[in-house]
Amino acid sequence: MARKHGKDGKHARNHGKGSSAASLSQAQSATRMQKPNRVRPGQPPSSALWARAASEIAGVAPSLIGSHLPISPKAAQGIVTVAPGETFDLGSVDADATGGFEKGAVKELLQAERVRIRTLQERLYAEHRRSVLVVFQAIDTGGKDGTIRSVFEGINPQGCRVWSFKVPSSEELDHDFLWRYHARTPGRGMIGVFNRSHYEDVLVVRVKKLVSEEVWQERYGLINDFERLLSLSGTTILKFFLHISKDEQKERLEARLADPEKHWKFDKADLVERRSWDSYQQAFSDALTRCSTPYAPWHVVPANRKWYRNLAIARTIADTLEAMDPHFPEADEGLAGLTVPD
Ligand code: AMP
Ligand code: MG
Repeated sequence: MARKHGKDGKHARNHGKGSSAASLSQAQSATRMQKPNRVRPGQPPSSALWARAASEIAGVAPSLIGSHLPISPKAAQGIVTVAPGETFDLGSVDADATGGFEKGAVKELLQAERVRIRTLQERLYAEHRRSVLVVFQAIDTGGKDGTIRSVFEGINPQGCRVWSFKVPSSEELDHDFLWRYHARTPGRGMIGVFNRSHYEDVLVVRVKKLVSEEVWQERYGLINDFERLLSLSGTTILKFFLHISKDEQKERLEARLADPEKHWKFDKADLVERRSWDSYQQAFSDALTRCSTPYAPWHVVPANRKWYRNLAIARTIADTLEAMDPHFPEADEGLAGLTVPD
């Protein structure tokens, strides 16, 4: 099936096609499920489920099974974790929710979470055994850039890479849809951040009819298999969907129009996309329903309030890193007796 979106590259302004990387320093400046499972949101899957899932994936070393179980601790207050196997309606989440937090108290709390992330990241990097992939999806103006800038402030850029996925380049379109994402998954010790992700291929691609339904329908299962492979290979996956209301999007677009310093972010194509609001909401709900798995559950973050969004996401990432419990590697033997020559 020929893919059409090579020709349609103008539907969104694109600062360089394809996918672009940013180290954190840059970013700061700028199973198919085997069966519906009964794992509660926020609970890690059982080893039995893992063993079964792993045995289905050719090429996964048996030694990995059990030693790299992914961690999904309970998400922060106010976040809705999509229960695997259950139909999810995005309309059921109040985008204004703030998890019971007060705005005034958030500054210090957020700073504390950043320190936790920074401290644990150092251990993850030193341990060099596992990795974390943080995926952000949202409608235009949903706050992906702002979240990344805020949550990862102060993190060691060497241990983190941010990838922003744009309209695919012609080289990317010459490959299977997962190719460009797989090439950018985090290696051992790293935190990888996807600003947009492989989910675009069942979102914008579906809404804009860039491939046939037959093609995108198959992709949910392929995405689940892809994420299962990553999990079994030692990558803990955290997927955040930033949920804003249609009114909030209007305000954010108006704010971009009103402020000359934000004009660079204003994309006329966003106004066209906004007309497809309902189709996007439907595509989001379907992706959240079909791709929330025990090993890579979707977390829906009420995101009208930026201060709440940042805190809730930072806390969930910090909790996840803590549950992974990364350790500094064993020191070489005999260090105690060593002296450094002049
Ligand atoms: P932005 O994130 O605002 O810089 O915009 C990136 C644009 O790339 C958005 O309009 C996305 O919908 C588009 N995009 C990202 N991934 C894909 C994809 N796989 N196919 C088509 N368009 C995409
Ligand atoms: Mg944009």
